[in-house]
Amino acid sequence: MAKIISGKELSAKLKEEMAAQVAGFPEKYGRVPHLVVILVGDNPASVSYVTGKAKASETVGIRNTTIRKPETISEAELLELISELNSDDTVDGILVQLPLPRHISEAKVIETIAKEKDVDGFHPLNVAALWQRQPCTVACTPKGIIKMLKEAGIEISGKRAVVIGRSNIVGLPVAKLLLDENATVTIAHSRTANLAEVTRQAEILVVAIGRPRFVTADMVSEGAAVIDVGVNRDPETGKLCGDVDFAEVEPKASVITPVPGGVGPMTICCLMENTIQCFLSKKLSKGE
Ligand code: NAP
Repeated sequence: MAKIISGKELSAKLKEEMAAQVAGFPEKYGRVPHLVVILVGDNPASVSYVTGKAKASETVGIRNTTIRKPETISEAELLELISELNSDDTVDGILVQLPLPRHISEAKVIETIAKEKDVDGFHPLNVAALWQRQPCTVACTPKGIIKMLKEAGIEISGKRAVVIGRSNIVGLPVAKLLLDENATVTIAHSRTANLAEVTRQAEILVVAIGRPRFVTADMVSEGAAVIDVGVNRDPETGKLCGDVDFAEVEPKASVITPVPGGVGPMTICCLMENTIQCFLSKKLSKGE
C-alpha cells in the first residue's frame, strides 16, 4: 500500500508558517503583500480557482483583490489594465486566470505582466531564467510537486524520473526542476512510442496529461513515487479524478498523490509563497 501524500495537509502546514511570517510584515515593512487576480468571464472552473486563491490569501494574511471583467473585454483593454497594475507600487503580484477567451492572446497577456510581479512564473524571462539556473519565480504547480516529493522523504538525486506531458506550465518546468535535483529525466508526450515501456522505467513518475485514469497499473513499476497532476471529470461518475487510475496504481506505488487533495492545494500554496517572494524582492531592491 502506498503512502498517500496529502497536498491538503502539507499546504495547510505551509500556509500556517507563511501566515506567521506575513504577520510581522506590517511592523517591518508597513504593509502586507498584495496579490491582484484578474478573472475574465465566468467559466465555473476559473471562478472556483479564483475563489480558492482569494481564500488562501485570507488564510495567509495576504491582501487579495479580484478584478472581474466581462468575456467581451478587448485584448487592448486587458493589456492596459495589466500595465496600470504593473506601475502601481501597492501591487506585488499579478495573475490573470487562464484560459482566456479566444480573441485575447494568452502569450501577449503573460508577456505584459511585469516579470517582477509574475507570481505564476509564466513570463518568458522567468522561464528563461529557470532554464539558465538564474534566480526567478518558479511556476506554482512544478514547485509544489518538488515540495511534495521532499515532504514524502523521496530522494530525487540519482533517480530515473519520467514526466508525461510537455506543457509550458507543468511538464517542461517540472522536468527541469527534477533535473536540477539531479534526477535523470525522460519527458514523454503524445508521440512517445511504447509509453508503458518508458513509464515502467520510472522511479518517479509525474503525470500531467489531462485524461481521466489514463495511467494504469501495468504502466507503473513496483515502488514508484507517482505524482498525479491531472484534473479531470470522471466520465462515469462526473466526479473529479486524476490522470492516474488511483485504485489500480496505489497498491504498486511507494507514494502517490490523490485527486482532489494532492497537487491542486500545493499549487495555490506556492502561489502564496511566490507572492511573498515578489513582495520581499521588491523591498530588498529598494533597500527597505
Ligand atoms: P496540456 O497543455 O494539454 O498538455 C498535455 C500534455 O499531455 C501534452 O504534452 C501532450 O502531448 C500530453 N499527452 C496528451 N495525450 C497523451 C497521451 N495519450 N500520451 C502521452 N502524452 C499525452 O495540459 P497541462 O496544462 O500540462 O495540464 C495537464 C493536466 O494537469 C490537466 O488535467 C490540467 O487540468 C492539470 N493541471 C493541474 C494543475 C493543478 O494545480 N493540479 C495545474 C495545471 C494543470 P503533446 O505535447 O505531444 O501534445
